Amino acid sequence: MTEVDVLVVGAGPAGATAALNLAPTRNVLLLDWRDFRSPGGAIGESLVPAARRLFSDMGLLEAFLAGGHAPWYGNRSAWGGEGIAESDLIRDIDGHGWHLDRALFDAWLRQMAVERGVRLFAPARVPFIERDSQGWRAKVSGHAGSVFDIRAGAVVDASGKFATLARRFGARQGSAEPRMIGVWLAGDARETPSTGGFTMVEAMEDGWWYTAPLPHARRALAFHTDPDLPSGRIARSAAALMRHAAGAPFLAATLKECGFSCEGEVRLTIANGGALYPVAGPAWFAAGDAAIHFDPLASQGIFNALFTGLASAEAADRLLEGDDPEGVAEGYIRLIAGIETAYRSRRMVYYCQERRWPGAPFWARRHAERPMAERAQGEAAVRRDRAG
Ligand SMILES: Cc1cc2nc3c(=O)[nH]c(=O)nc-3n(C[C@H](O)[C@H](O)[C@H](O)COP(=O)(O)OP(=O)(O)OC[C@H]3O[C@@H](n4cnc5c(N)ncnc54)[C@H](O)[C@@H]3O)c2cc1C
Repeated sequence: MTEVDVLVVGAGPAGATAALNLAPTRNVLLLDWRDFRSPGGAIGESLVPAARRLFSDMGLLEAFLAGGHAPWYGNRSAWGGEGIAESDLIRDIDGHGWHLDRALFDAWLRQMAVERGVRLFAPARVPFIERDSQGWRAKVSGHAGSVFDIRAGAVVDASGKFATLARRFGARQGSAEPRMIGVWLAGDARETPSTGGFTMVEAMEDGWWYTAPLPHARRALAFHTDPDLPSGRIARSAAALMRHAAGAPFLAATLKECGFSCEGEVRLTIANGGALYPVAGPAWFAAGDAAIHFDPLASQGIFNALFTGLASAEAADRLLEGDDPEGVAEGYIRLIAGIETAYRSRRMVYYCQERRWPGAPFWARRHAERPMAERAQGEAAVRRDRAG
């Protein structure tokens, strides 16, 4: 029987951040069902400038900057009008953001956690977990069939948008957004002075695109649409996706300028936002995408993983310190409800800015969301009030 203070399930940005912030004072086991030998897909994520402050609070800013992630200077958007609008992060009080080398970033955060004393176990799963009067009792299974028992005082579910652990504790996931898929691929590209450092976003009748630079002279291209629309079927081939991209003139010009050439398969992911209810309970907390995940238009997922990773570590620490468990869970629920409210209203503003295709189902569905979003916001406010 291994005894730990906190069991963190999922070693992505949220889980690694929770673990590394607990490690100086707590005994932490971090596990993930991946073995990390094969890097995940490169979807072209950018990290918002405000992350600089979080890294600074966590004592990680210098080490993060030494990682050499490419600067992200802003977005060029063909959205809501015929021309291009540029949002320039140089005016942001925190300076520029970053086009992350995601594999490097995740491995670095895990390494920081291990250097601070976290025990990392991967690949590993939790086939059984239950709470009794002394805390959590779980079985952990590793490779080659090894199984061991653990006891933990608190659990952080950082398993990503499917919240596999919290759903076993009875939490449910919900979304007030229409279902949306992201279809994406990566390819070789030579950045030029005008394309490097910027994400290009372009709306079209049946969805919207982005393309962003990746490390090692590569670039990501992604299209977001509704799965039931004819364009939802272009997921089948890279050639079909590229033909569809030709209908977005600014995006196509960027790809041409970079000499973008794609190979390999097209990947598909669920891309609409959603949230978990509740995000915390007796001695457990959900962090990152497991707690709340966003429409990619927000570019907020990794910042949120860092922020809620840190917040869940603080909540778990207070619980272990002997604070009232209900009060700790309620404070955490209130924090995430605040994030949800801010995200919903910002997302609504973006989608309502695009009015060029009022009859097109993709846009009509999002414009019709306003009453739904207002209801969801009302519900989030009620949850916040109930929590304190
Ligand atoms: C198309 C698209 C574009 C995006 N663009 C951006 C962007 O520009 N900027 C941005 O900030 N965000 C972006 N995001 C969101 C971002 O990718 C996520 O928010 C971020 O990865 C969440 O981190 P996480 O640690 O919560 O979860 P994850 O990164 O998903 O990590 C979860 C970990 O848990 C492990 N795991 C899962 N289940 C179990 C289990 N049962 N047992 C053990 N381990 C488990 C997984 O293997 C994984 O390692 C985008 C997302 C999409 C889909």
